[in-house]
Amino acid sequence: MTQRLYWEDALLFEFEARVEALASWQGSPSVILDRTAFYPEAGGQMADHGQLAGLMVHDVQVDEQGRIHHLLEGGAPEVGARVMGQIDAQRRREHMALHTGQHMLSHAILDAARASTVSSRLGERVSTLDVDVAELSRDAIDEAVARVNALVDEDRPVRASFPSPEVLASLPLRRKPKVQDGIRVVEVEGFDVTPCGGTHATHTSQVQGLFVLSHARYKGGTRLTFLAGPRLRRVFVERALALDTLATRFTCAPEDVDKAVDNLDAELKQTRASLGAARLELASSYADTLVSEAVDGRVTAELDLSIGEARAISRKLVAQGLTVLLACGAGERLGVLVSRPEAEGMDVGRFLRESAKALGGGGGGRPHHAEGSIPRAAYAQLRERFLG
Ligand SMILES: [Zn+2]
Repeated sequence: MTQRLYWEDALLFEFEARVEALASWQGSPSVILDRTAFYPEAGGQMADHGQLAGLMVHDVQVDEQGRIHHLLEGGAPEVGARVMGQIDAQRRREHMALHTGQHMLSHAILDAARASTVSSRLGERVSTLDVDVAELSRDAIDEAVARVNALVDEDRPVRASFPSPEVLASLPLRRKPKVQDGIRVVEVEGFDVTPCGGTHATHTSQVQGLFVLSHARYKGGTRLTFLAGPRLRRVFVERALALDTLATRFTCAPEDVDKAVDNLDAELKQTRASLGAARLELASSYADTLVSEAVDGRVTAELDLSIGEARAISRKLVAQGLTVLLACGAGERLGVLVSRPEAEGMDVGRFLRESAKALGGGGGGRPHHAEGSIPRAAYAQLRERFLG
């Protein structure tokens, strides 16, 4: 079993070790050391990155024998060599803050809503905490978050230890240990005691702050998505800058952007309404032009209008005793409409059903009004059939 230096000191970012063996992890060559400060992916916490003997460490995993595999890029040191390891401290601090924040949130949400933690995942971008209560109110979440942030402000010590079985039995553990012996316990002073093998902040102030971005039903319980530590700071700065950009564009204060969007919405609705009215007016005057183009009581036109606008034009033409074929739309397929006065004339429903089918389209309707669609290329043929 590899000696785990991160258990003794989570802030140890440089260490010396001896290469014990060259092995493999899932088909990739790996390096086993006598001791390491590299944290392997486990318990929902991601693996450390960094350098070993000057080579990039891109993954760290632990096998069933407790041997820690370092996966390196571009080679490997010799067995027996003494090597230096450097942990990517920024990445580790981010994980430590998220992980400690998760411990505190788990306890705070248990207090606020009797919701026990089922699992947690501290991902590359997203960190989640799954709890066993489905009906979790935002108020309960806010209460838990406020508690965590108060503990951050209090800068309480966070300690890890391997207590004796007697001491362990006396501790108020938040959950049962997942391993049988060599149980490691992490305590946020005066608040939370839980068995855990991960890396944690040494003081709650390193968590910097915690925020629950969202919560949603998940597998019969609730999934909380949260931010803490350097990641919280980074994401909030990004969001603040994005909001500032919007505020500048709206020429308003950041807190008034919401109102500015409401105003824009109202303006858009009004503009759409007047545009619609203007288009109808245009369609109406276009119908007048079409009347003068009618031959033997029939008229056709291809319009860059909606089917609704085409209907308005056809109503006006039909009211003047004309039979009309209108095509509309801008894409590869045209919407088509055939209409005539109700009293007399051709069966336009049947005409369109048969013609559209023959031309690779479809449609139909009543004897005096029918609608459908055809490929744009077939419009000339449809028009020919109509004017017949
Ligand atoms: Zn932990």
